[in-house]
Amino acid sequence: MPQQRLVNQINFLSFTIVHNLTNKEFDQQHIWHPYTSAIDPLPCFEVSGASGAELTLASGETLIDGMSSWWAAIHGYNHPALNAAAHQQIDKFSHVMFGGLTHEPAVNLCRQLLGMAPAGLERVFLADSGSVSVEVAIKMAVQYWACQGRPEKSRLIAPRNGYHGDTFAAMSVCDPVNGMHSLFTNTLTKHVFAPAPQTRFGQAFSEDDILPLEELFARHHEELAALILEPVVQGAGGMRFYHPEYLRRCRQLCDTYDVLLICDEIATGFGRTGKLFGCDHAEISPDIMCVGKALTGGYMTLAATLCTEDVARGVCEGSPGVFMHGPTFMGNPLACAVAGASLSLINQGDWQVQVQRIETQLKAELPRCTELACVQDVRVLGAIGVVETKHPVDMKRLQPLFVKNGVWIRPFGKLVYIMPPYVIASEQLSRLSDAIYHSLSSTYG
Ligand code: PMP
Repeated sequence: MPQQRLVNQINFLSFTIVHNLTNKEFDQQHIWHPYTSAIDPLPCFEVSGASGAELTLASGETLIDGMSSWWAAIHGYNHPALNAAAHQQIDKFSHVMFGGLTHEPAVNLCRQLLGMAPAGLERVFLADSGSVSVEVAIKMAVQYWACQGRPEKSRLIAPRNGYHGDTFAAMSVCDPVNGMHSLFTNTLTKHVFAPAPQTRFGQAFSEDDILPLEELFARHHEELAALILEPVVQGAGGMRFYHPEYLRRCRQLCDTYDVLLICDEIATGFGRTGKLFGCDHAEISPDIMCVGKALTGGYMTLAATLCTEDVARGVCEGSPGVFMHGPTFMGNPLACAVAGASLSLINQGDWQVQVQRIETQLKAELPRCTELACVQDVRVLGAIGVVETKHPVDMKRLQPLFVKNGVWIRPFGKLVYIMPPYVIASEQLSRLSDAIYHSLSSTYG
């Protein structure tokens, strides 16, 4: 049949074309990357290795990593203890379902996690990613009130400039402007938004900061299931560091008005802000807490939603008597084994000295960026350094320039920011600070 022959020929040709593409060409033409265009993709660099605080590119260059692969690789890449944990577990078994089965890696991980989490958190739900752990937290809060006979308490309240992930429930509590609400307006649940906290970390707390939230609680508490926020550092929604007193007052408002407090520690957890958890700056405990990212030291995807005994019991008291969530890869043993090893490293305590050292150095090195006309603000907290520009940076120019300067820094919008692995050496950190200054200076003057 000539038609069939033609189809076969076309299939053969496209197969040959696809297989003759270089990795870079194939990637550009066929693979989505986070927040990128399929029509006009940004430059993308192929990694062939990673060790300590360095990435090696397939083209041979080594780059000092300023991103910890988005807050995750806190102990550095290719860490012997994490590698050993992965090897040992893979030789036993990589995965078994978590329904009706349990295993040592999950028990060991959750034991350590509860041992270090803010007081009162006693139950762990293991989830696949940060966004899923936020979905789980929201479902817990809504199911809790439904089971208490108060189904009208089903909305959430969140400060503006928040970021909680890219899935639908998570998106619905992200900042309504930069969280894409207008794009998905007919699909997203409408929640209540408060102005973002204004008093910066380290400034004197202004009472005005909490007033709008107090008013919103007074007006809406009967329909509110939970307040969700990122403790002390608002990450992808603006890299803003706010006063811990705001968080303390949030806890008080939640107690006064019978609203659960969900703290999203996915970015802030495990030492990044200088305390083990962002909540620790305010000495408060949430009712529900999400962790992810650095949980496995950046080795693979795993997150967790922790809650109090009161929330856990409340959820399971009413009908249907169980918490309604259970992903296929829940409690993946391989991920749990690596996460257990990562928490053991944290529990050894070196992170405190490392994060303090990074903070001191960034506070000494980054402020000279304020000399540049394009720079609006410089701020540092723990192992996070942010240079905010007056206008959004041109990624197409800046990203290759950073690579040329031997560093891996990935700005977004007006934010050129770094949160390096805690093990970074001070010379490497200086290379990151220098690269930010020189790249911004040569691009924007
Ligand atoms: N919450 C916060 C505070 C985050 O920073 C992120 C990730 N940037 C998420 C949730 C979502 O996590 P994930 O990307 O693992 O889904």
